[in-house]
Amino acid sequence: MFLMKQLTCETNIIYSFSKDHAPAMTVDAGETVVIETYDCFENQIESNDTELGSINWNQINPATGPIYVNGAQKGDLLKVTIKKIEIGHQGVLATGEGLGMLGDELSGMTHRVLPIEDGYAIFDDRLKIPLTPMIGVIGVAPEGEAVSCGTPNHHGGNLDTKLMKEGATVYFPIFTEGALFALGDFHAAMGDGEVGGSGVEVPGKATVTLDVVKGHSIDHPVIVNENGIAFHVSEKTLDEAVQGATKRAAHFLASEANLSPAEAVMILSAAGEAEISQVVDPLLTARMIIPQFILDAYGIQPFQS
Ligand code: CA
Ligand code: ZN
Repeated sequence: MFLMKQLTCETNIIYSFSKDHAPAMTVDAGETVVIETYDCFENQIESNDTELGSINWNQINPATGPIYVNGAQKGDLLKVTIKKIEIGHQGVLATGEGLGMLGDELSGMTHRVLPIEDGYAIFDDRLKIPLTPMIGVIGVAPEGEAVSCGTPNHHGGNLDTKLMKEGATVYFPIFTEGALFALGDFHAAMGDGEVGGSGVEVPGKATVTLDVVKGHSIDHPVIVNENGIAFHVSEKTLDEAVQGATKRAAHFLASEANLSPAEAVMILSAAGEAEISQVVDPLLTARMIIPQFILDAYGIQPFQS
């Protein structure tokens, strides 16, 4: 029995991803670490009686980190294996005026604390929502200026994608030495789109293995799971995000299977899955999934050396 490295959120939170942040911890490539996180409200909403006007709105979307990974160089990939996600005993949903898809109809802010019991988030005495624990904010330091933890982009960040769950292997482009990895914003459950503006926001702990992959190149986050490979792109509009994700999937498939671009997009048109991750953050995130049977047919093992 050996003790894994643990990173607490109490002294190690950031509100942006930046190459200028000092590392909170250094690990070797291949090392596994347990990272503790606040919820996206920094645990300020404790009950249904909390006045949302009274919380500090500057303390929103904290991520825990950053972690410097030895051997990570610009141009490599950071491979993050999500081994385990543990969540707290209650979560909070919030929506309101100007937030989410009903933001034009709502006035003020509304929130609800959901007890988490026996695999469900309890919405009311009639509805229990099955837990689908996931990580909302996860990524590395971006190329240029710092990016707020509320925004998703090339480096990851606030991707709010349902696929960021236990068992997933996630690849990020590395823009700076050490990669400077961080994560936060867990959801006990979230639907595709996150249409009201929040998931069931919850504090928690993630056990992740951080590794470096050389000799491959990506420019947006990619998630590999038992169902296939999912290319995530965030843009100002959903149309652009879907196009960006589809292009990356098609280029990957064409290159790995020695197909023409037309053949690759025909295959995606026949069996690829364009899905919405979220439509409520400053950039919108879509994903294009190449199902596993297509990878199997062409003998593709993503990002193996
Ligand atoms: Ca989020
Ligand atoms: Zn969240």
